Amino acid sequence: MTKEEDIPDWVGAQEFYDKYDPKEILGRGVSSVVRRCVDKLSAQEYAVKIIDITPSDQLTGQEIEEIRSATEKEIAILKMVCGQENIIQLKDCYESNAFFFLVFDLMKRGELFDYLTEKVTLSEKETRNIMRALLEVVQFLHSQNIVHRDLKPENILLDDQMKIKLTDFGFSIQTEPGQKLSEVCGTPGYLAPEIIECSMNATPVGYDTAVDIWSSGVIMYTLLAGSPPFWHRKQMLMLRMILGGKYDFSSPEWEDRSDTVKDLISRMLVVDPKQRYTARDALNHPFFSQYVVAEVRQFTPYRRFKVICMTVLATMRIYCNYRRAKPVTKEVIKSDPYAVKPIRKLIDACAFKIYGHWVKKGQAQNRAALFENSPKVILLSLAAEADDSTLHTW
Ligand code: ADP
Ligand code: MG
Repeated sequence: MTKEEDIPDWVGAQEFYDKYDPKEILGRGVSSVVRRCVDKLSAQEYAVKIIDITPSDQLTGQEIEEIRSATEKEIAILKMVCGQENIIQLKDCYESNAFFFLVFDLMKRGELFDYLTEKVTLSEKETRNIMRALLEVVQFLHSQNIVHRDLKPENILLDDQMKIKLTDFGFSIQTEPGQKLSEVCGTPGYLAPEIIECSMNATPVGYDTAVDIWSSGVIMYTLLAGSPPFWHRKQMLMLRMILGGKYDFSSPEWEDRSDTVKDLISRMLVVDPKQRYTARDALNHPFFSQYVVAEVRQFTPYRRFKVICMTVLATMRIYCNYRRAKPVTKEVIKSDPYAVKPIRKLIDACAFKIYGHWVKKGQAQNRAALFENSPKVILLSLAAEADDSTLHTW
């Protein structure tokens, strides 16, 4: 058998290029590029994540070793979670001294992030389907003591049936039961308060799986509002908002959202991780049991009477709301077109198409903020922010 040191540097790469034809770029990360690729024999399309570990001026030997070991961990976790319906499937992987090639099923509809920017905001119904699948995946990961640590719409892909597939396990880690983590990693806007605490405290309490629920809460808020819950142009102040759990439902997008959905979000965005919902709690929340058609025949006469009363009340409420709603006249459209919801959505979507990014709509309601998260922030160096004048307000 060939000894490992006898294998030339390029062997893994050659095996990949023998089997697949790489095509256009689908996405980029800090040290990776994701391309579409085609299996030469079957003509089946895949996505390949190519991780560059070539020694260069930008990368020190130690950094290369860190990327190599992180990628090995990513592969190990991907193999561990293989077969889960809403998780991306790793089909193949190759390693040479210069590159890793991770071959995945191709998700032609791309990221949830792009879908959201195209749709501006999602309905409660669509949010329910996405969040149910996401929380089920999170519940499965947590049952295996795996923390994803980088949940965000960029890492949630959509398949042809618009079902979600969670990807990017680059920061994921499997812990011992009860183990606390203290490494600061993730993407700023989605960081749980206890992770930020770890970067500020010499002897931090640490964090666990609950950080994924916080990020899921941020995602859920963002899907419904079209802008993130925590944002400030100075990152330090944004982190402070997160630490204090300071967000609100004040933007116009929340006006016609149900109290049930707001209640669920507010139980996920809880600063104290011990008080925060778990994935199971969230899945048991009434938001996910709405519209489950019950067998009316099983109802007792009392229950049947109650359902009839509730239906009459709901009908009255809809009628009253209808009477209260201002008619959309020419005058309304001329004087304040942005106040009319369908027109508002149209303006927002057109602005995105024209400018290629969201137009800022003031501090509290900032869609542009969605684009301000760098693709991946490996370490949040709060010390570097110390130069920032805003630090004095901490
Ligand atoms: P990184 O760790 O560098 O963030 P990701 O695994 O998140 O890498 O991939 C980066 C981007 O590449 C994703 O956000 C997505 O846009 C695209 N991408 C990744 N995997 C696939 C896939 N299987 N199908 C389609 N696009 C993908
Ligand atoms: Mg990613």
